[in-house]
This record gives sequence, C-alpha cells and structure tokens, in this order.
Amino acid sequence: MSTRLLASAGTNARFTCVLCLAVFVACGQSPDPQGGSVEESAQGTAHEIHWGYEGEIGPARWADLSPDFAQCGQGREQSPIDLVGAVVVEGMPLEKTRSQGLLTVEQRARVMDLIDNGHTIQVTSDAFMALDLDGEHYELVQYHFHDPSEHTVDGEQAPLEVHFVHKSAAGNLAVAALLVEVGDRDPVWDHVIAALPSGPGDSRHLDDLDLKTSELHPASDYYRYRGSLTTPPCSEDVEWIVMADRHRISPEQMAAITSHLHQNNRPVQPLGERELVLISSR
Ligand SMILES: [Zn+2]
Repeated sequence: MSTRLLASAGTNARFTCVLCLAVFVACGQSPDPQGGSVEESAQGTAHEIHWGYEGEIGPARWADLSPDFAQCGQGREQSPIDLVGAVVVEGMPLEKTRSQGLLTVEQRARVMDLIDNGHTIQVTSDAFMALDLDGEHYELVQYHFHDPSEHTVDGEQAPLEVHFVHKSAAGNLAVAALLVEVGDRDPVWDHVIAALPSGPGDSRHLDDLDLKTSELHPASDYYRYRGSLTTPPCSEDVEWIVMADRHRISPEQMAAITSHLHQNNRPVQPLGERELVLISSR
C-alpha cells in the first residue's frame, strides 16, 4: 500500500445528516424536492438553500447559490470522477482484508429508517457497520442512491449507484460506492424495496430487519481516491472507495428503486493532480 493511501483524512468534513433527518421527522416537515434538505452533507445552512440537478439550481450553478457551496466550483479534489487510467496496486479483495485490518466491513443490523429527502432515497440504520481504512475506524451513517451512477468507468455510466457513507470519530468521511446494473434478482434488496417511501418527505421505520449489509458489498477489487461530497457543500477530504465489480438486481428491482429517483447524479469532475488507484488481487 503506498504512502499516498496512508494519508490521513482531513478534519473539515462536516456531517450531521442524521440530526437533520431527525429534525425533519420531529417537525413533520416535508423536505422541498427542489432543495431544502441534504444528502451526504448537513452543514448548517445547506438545508436552507435550494439546490437540485437541473437548470438554475443545477450542479453547474451550485457554487453560485451560496458562499458555503464555494467548493463546488473552486474545489480541486471533487467527486464524482471518471474511473479511467488507474494505477494498479496489488492488494487483497475486500473480504480478505478483514484479517489484515486494511478494510473491514462489519454489521449488526436491526432497525432502519428509509426517507425520501427530495434528492435521494436514504437509509439510516442503527446497524453497527464499520470500515477500517488505513488505521482509521469509520462507522456507517447512512446509504443512499443515485440514478444513474455518478462515477463512470471509462465514460460509461451504470443505471444506479449506492453510496455507503461512513464517518470516523474524528468526523472524517469515507464513502464506499457500489455500481449496480440489471441482471438477476437479488433477494437481499427486497427488504429495502418493500419499504421504499411513497414520495419526498415520507419515511418508513422498520424494526428488527436483519439486512445483511455485508452482502451489499461484494468481494471485489476496488478503486480509491481522495474526493468530496457529490452534493452541496461539496466538502473535500472524503475517502472514496468504488467497487470495481458491479452488483446486479432484476429489471423489476431496478425500476422499483429508480422510480423514486430522477437524474440525481452530479457530472464527473476533473481528476486533476490526484492519483486514482485500483487495488487488485488479480
Ligand atoms: Zn451520494
């Protein structure tokens, strides 16, 4: 593992999304589909500023909407990116790194909340699901969906991307991304699909759901790079992991999820001076 990968995450990541969602639920407010709520971010004013994916409030204008969103335009380590030209580093696939402490995923799933926050379908859980990365311990905070994918592979999009957002005790973020395409039905996803909210502002609470989140992370080679939130305020110092192998769900499952989403993908950003690494066991 190169020293580049050992660089510790920064300290300016701000993430209180769970609190924001709690406010929405507690106050009975419906997040505005045009903005008004947050996805991966929850910086103070972020949920008061309308942003979206089209027109005057679309990604090309995010930086103009608020000084707090300046990174969306000025940042030099932004996400998503096109996954191409990676430096291949020999390493172990995810499931085999467990004993080496490079990357582990654990889970104890029991209760989940699904909420449609107007930008995506977001799942929060009291599951203990952890990611150990370069000696820093991250715990799962939520996961959510993008339709179509935000990351591309040599310019090609997948129909769906799932972001598993993890946070460390120091407040640093690590997001594990999974590209999903159409194939055979995967029953693991039926729990989530059955509980999808009816629309923006709706939320569902599920008790005692034994969702095997580890099954959502396939054993796979994976990309790593340093990036940002893909939603305002586009804060940087986010550790990104993108699974090289794609997950497959049935056409019906795909339709069930994407019917709740609408082009909520930020376009790819320049890689710039960063290095993209592909950790490969092959
Ligand atoms: Zn996301």
